[in-house]
Amino acid sequence: MAAKLVVAGNWKMNMTASEGKALVEALKPLVADVCPCACTVIVCPPFTTLAAVIEAAKGSNIHVGAQNVHWAESGAFTGEISAAMLKEAGAEYVIIGHSERRQYFGETDQTVNARIKAALAAGLKPIVCIGETLEEREGGRTEAVLARQVREGLAGLDAAALATLIIAYEPVWAIGTGRTATPEMAEETQRAIRGFVAEQFGAAAAADLTIQYGGSMKPANAAALCAQADINGGLIGGAALKADSFAELVKNAIAGNGEK
Ligand code: PEP
Repeated sequence: MAAKLVVAGNWKMNMTASEGKALVEALKPLVADVCPCACTVIVCPPFTTLAAVIEAAKGSNIHVGAQNVHWAESGAFTGEISAAMLKEAGAEYVIIGHSERRQYFGETDQTVNARIKAALAAGLKPIVCIGETLEEREGGRTEAVLARQVREGLAGLDAAALATLIIAYEPVWAIGTGRTATPEMAEETQRAIRGFVAEQFGAAAAADLTIQYGGSMKPANAAALCAQADINGGLIGGAALKADSFAELVKNAIAGNGEK
């Protein structure tokens, strides 16, 4: 087995239920010919848009995820959503530890770890985001930061759990900025991440792990990024908000992946 190609759209705080439904309806015919064997296509709408998107995506090859999950099963956590709630709503994936959650909402490697465990226990597939800030990269700390995020974020998991999750490497300085890591730069870092995973879970589990790149991935650079050995798709912000650009990006990612 080898790592599978997965392209996921992170809609962030965009798309009301009706807008999200319209986006999925437009996306469906554009990706209808994408074989699940070539690429898993995921969209991650906001919580209140989930139900409409899950309904609209039924019977298609579009999978649906949420953007966050709380670690507790239930209780006095105003404003939070549990893994069981997401599962019952029909979500299959959940983004955990996005840099915006780390930056604006106090997310730590420990809360990321707790959320991953809650998601896995409920049968959700986590998309775990890691990445260094510009300051950390310029300070020569990229690998140390990523090693810590992998070690602490994935602490206590076994190889079987690892088989159901995805890592998204998102250099924080490349998110929403139009500044993409070059394919070579992203590859070098993602190879290092796979190495950290191998130390913790063994080489076979690391080889099979999908590691996405995220940070201003667009239709124009998706092929070159996904042609890199350790880049297995993308987590996409801006370019996922329009059906045609997202579909084009998916197809270019498949083409790039085919060049490996
Ligand atoms: C993201 O939010 O995960 C992301 C990668 O955003 P963008 O593609 O807009 O940089």
